[in-house]
Amino acid sequence: MNQESNGNPVVLFVDDEVHVLRSLQRALMDEPLTTLTAESGEQALRTLAREHIDVVVSDERMPGMSGSTLLTEVKNRHPEIIRIMLTGHADLEAAMQAINDGRIYRFLLKPVATDELASVIQKALRERAQSERLLSLSQQAGDVCSFEVLKSSEGRTRVRWSRNARTLLELPPDADLEDLDLLYSRLHPDDETRVRELNASCLKMLACASTEYRIRLSNDRIRWIAQTSDVAADPGTGAIRLLSVLRDITESKKQRERLEYQAYHDVLTGLGNRALLLDGLDEALHQSGTRQTYVALLFIDLDDFKIVNDSMGHAFGDWLLQAFAQRLNALELPAAMAARLGGDEFALLLRVDDAEQAGDGARAVQEALAEPFRHGDYEVHISASIGIALGRGAETAGLDLLREADTAMYAAKYKGKGSFRLFDKSMHDKASERFVLVGDMHRSLARDCFFLAFQPIVRLDTLVLAGYEALARWQHPERGLVMPNTFIPLAEESGLITRLGRQVTEKACRQAREWNDARPEAPPFMSFNVSVQQLHEADLARRLDVTITNLGLDPGLIKLEITESGLMHDVQLSMDVLAQLKALGVKLQIDDFGTGYSSLRYLQRIPADSLKVDKSFVMGMENDAEKRAIVRTIIDLARSLGMNVVAEGVETRAQLLLLRELGCEYGQGYLFDKPLPPEEAAQRRDYAHTLEIGN
Ligand code: C2E
Ligand code: CA
Ligand code: CA
Repeated sequence: MNQESNGNPVVLFVDDEVHVLRSLQRALMDEPLTTLTAESGEQALRTLAREHIDVVVSDERMPGMSGSTLLTEVKNRHPEIIRIMLTGHADLEAAMQAINDGRIYRFLLKPVATDELASVIQKALRERAQSERLLSLSQQAGDVCSFEVLKSSEGRTRVRWSRNARTLLELPPDADLEDLDLLYSRLHPDDETRVRELNASCLKMLACASTEYRIRLSNDRIRWIAQTSDVAADPGTGAIRLLSVLRDITESKKQRERLEYQAYHDVLTGLGNRALLLDGLDEALHQSGTRQTYVALLFIDLDDFKIVNDSMGHAFGDWLLQAFAQRLNALELPAAMAARLGGDEFALLLRVDDAEQAGDGARAVQEALAEPFRHGDYEVHISASIGIALGRGAETAGLDLLREADTAMYAAKYKGKGSFRLFDKSMHDKASERFVLVGDMHRSLARDCFFLAFQPIVRLDTLVLAGYEALARWQHPERGLVMPNTFIPLAEESGLITRLGRQVTEKACRQAREWNDARPEAPPFMSFNVSVQQLHEADLARRLDVTITNLGLDPGLIKLEITESGLMHDVQLSMDVLAQLKALGVKLQIDDFGTGYSSLRYLQRIPADSLKVDKSFVMGMENDAEKRAIVRTIIDLARSLGMNVVAEGVETRAQLLLLRELGCEYGQGYLFDKPLPPEEAAQRRDYAHTLEIGN
């Protein structure tokens, strides 16, 4: 009985003929159904009162209670039970009527085919399950946000809105309407057709569906709604019920939009990121093919940003990146797209007619950096190295263009900070050569392959040797001698400059000690170059102190040359480090003076002992009044600040005489000597004789 049903649906057959009952039971033997039998309507009702029954299949013609009377009674007592009538042709009319009245689900003509019986019962059970699910959903939905569409078998529709749905959609209280037009009138125009069609097809195909759409509320607010619809036909009445549960997903939608935004944008600066740039690049390349323009990609790398970041703090670094991004964005370049690729690397995408215009774009970026960045008490000058790659047509890959621009950027850095270069094919080789050289430099630093050359520095009034500048040289194991203009930029770029700088310091100081001993009556001073990155080493001064003390060297003989642009880079830090160095008793000299942009205000604060006039002003000064004027101004300026002056790049007697006339104290250049190996340099004393110039 019911205990034996194993959870299977239970079918009750009612017929006065026992052999019919047996054959009906046999027909369902292989189905996952439990079958019971009753030989009369009265017996059937008693069974129904005792047992849980899912389906009643009853013969129409029986002695006593007829099948239709029984099934009407079943409907009244247990409306959820599926009712099926077995009839002969004679009762067809009555059976049809029973279906129309909703008393029965279906009728089957006798004799019943085995498989038809099973399939009708299974189908009825499926439909009932669906309908029940919907009913329970609709009961749960009483307080949930939902609407229900009821479509009668005659095609009339009614819509019922739950209270919460009205609130969600801001519908008027009397919004029980014949159709969903009120909903549709609230839909965002882009969503309307789609939602209309979806709801219509749900009703027509009896299919479940989920969708998302926007509702326009008052004050132009937009609310995102997620709608989940279930639909079923009532097996009894044939009416169709569609239930849609609504959820407000505005917040999660916003969240998703934020995530999507983040996937394509740089959070710090708000610029597009690499992914967005590559998308834009591919699109621009595609369009350029038809428009006969070029796509120019500018790869922008801020020079020495790492130093600023490490020394001034990351908060300042972040601010600087944001400020730079703003300047990039403010550039008035047509159809430009700016992106941050990460760190201090940015990109600018331009549409141009030719390479010249791309160069104009790069110049515009550099001009945007002319103004220093001011934040609180800080003021920072920063330059950018820019690589440019040009491309056209959909067959060009955006990623290739990006790589080329990157390579060109390295070439620009190599040329000198603050410059730009257009990519050409030969750069690929140079880029890989630089890579190889940096590796070589690592090994050479470990194997002591760097040595120093010493260039004499001469007192111009007496023409007596005063000191030397130590200049680094690289004895490359395969390439032979490599000059600093090749390896110093590489060393700075790769960070190896600090290791190299320590070796230079050691060697220069040791040589100074040696020459001090050789000429105790007039020991020559020793200059050497200190790169701006070394100024950021926390223990620069302490290490130098240890070296000098260990050698027992007079610190007054040591002179550190620091380039003007290096000092101006980060004035506050420079002041602090220079003060520490000064405290050791060593001398400080501003190198390459005249090429930077120091203002007098800063110059006054720098505790330097001397200035070195850049050789570009000295070379050709005898034929160039402007250069002479600059040199004179520098000398006057130095004097007013209490500094003395060294002129480098002295190649001719005319230059020597002019410099002497202008009151320049020291000179250095090929006229006297090139940088020399130490044994030769040690021989130099007096140039009056060799130059045959009197003093
Ligand atoms: P610098 O400090 O301006 O050094 C002077 C450069 O001018 C040297 O080139 C020297 O050989 C060259 N020079 C000297 N007199 C004359 C002249 O009369 N005419 C011409 N045309 N040139 C002259 P060098 O040795 O190739 O060094 C180039 C640059 O490399 C240096 O410029 C300096 O900035 C850098 N450097 C060299 N050694 C070191 C080092 O140990 N550390 C650092 N950080 N930089 C170094
Ligand atoms: Ca120098
Ligand atoms: Ca110089």
